[in-house]
Amino acid sequence: MTIPKTRRQFASDNWAGICQEAWAAMAEANANHAPSYGADAWTAEAVRLVREVFETDCAVHFVFNGTAANSLAVAAMCAPFESVLCHEHAHLATDECGAPGFFAHGTTLVRLLGKHGKIAAADIERATRARRDVHASMVRAVSITQSTELGTVYAPEEIAALGKAARALDLRLHMDGARFANAVASLGVAPRKLMWEAGVDVLSFGGTKNGLPCGEALVFFNGELARQFEYRRKQSGQLASKMRFLAAPWVGVLREGAWLRHAAHANAMAAQLARGLEGIPGARALYPREANVVFATLPPAMRAGLRARGWEFYTDVGPDGAARLMCSWDTTAEDVNAFLRDAAELAE
Ligand SMILES: *Cc1c(COP(=O)(O)O)cnc(C)c1O
Repeated sequence: MTIPKTRRQFASDNWAGICQEAWAAMAEANANHAPSYGADAWTAEAVRLVREVFETDCAVHFVFNGTAANSLAVAAMCAPFESVLCHEHAHLATDECGAPGFFAHGTTLVRLLGKHGKIAAADIERATRARRDVHASMVRAVSITQSTELGTVYAPEEIAALGKAARALDLRLHMDGARFANAVASLGVAPRKLMWEAGVDVLSFGGTKNGLPCGEALVFFNGELARQFEYRRKQSGQLASKMRFLAAPWVGVLREGAWLRHAAHANAMAAQLARGLEGIPGARALYPREANVVFATLPPAMRAGLRARGWEFYTDVGPDGAARLMCSWDTTAEDVNAFLRDAAELAE
């Protein structure tokens, strides 16, 4: 049977395929035998390249997906009776089916409100001081998403303020970086400024949405939290036996900077989409466009019409039934224009 082709869509960046750099590295890794479970040269090289990105000697562990990276980070940071502060739209809280509590055996998430998908240092402090008795889980960590679920980006100073507040309250700071590359490309700063220099202890470094087949890197800047992590990963079923196929794609995208080129491209496509939507009557962008996604409210008839013309996008992620239009490493300017043309035709 021939598998039908799906055209490029704005549904999600994980609808896109594998980028050429990752694909080529996998083919190279496939040419020979190699030691299993991460004892191979591809894994060593991928770890070295991640350390080079962050300019520090961090601990790097590959897992299959973002839910595992986030949940195992939570488990490494918290005891079962402790809790994590995160934004109400955090993937951790809304899209991981309770995995953080599952892997951390009871750790809970406390959802904070905050403008444009971000949480503020003052809210961390308020939430942490709210309850200090044994009847509530004790706050032990903060998790922020960069770029955020709503497509905004924390500036280095904002992360540093959160890091400072966290340290003062003896909390650990985790970053869900499923789209970290898009944030770095958007800000144009050295990754370390968004990371250990700003007080982040652990990063879930996303590769999948930036052109990898699968596989995220859990990066510990706090050596204490990384202790015995290998056991946690194995126990949770996240230790790949053919580890080189998780690692090689990272080598492919990191060795010559493709990870940032792809992310910058996706961001630029979203910028073009946001500009185009401004000129379409009835369409309204909801947040500042800072990474690779545009959230827009569209008139119901336009929404339905776009879907009838074959466009797919989510309206159940984020608030208000808005259309989430996500650009990928392989989105083209023609894709954006085709979508905008259809939207314009459907405008009243
Ligand atoms: C996609 C995504 C993840 C990872 O999800 P998995 O499906 O578990 O790989 C994590 N955080 C955010 C913000 C995401 O968008």
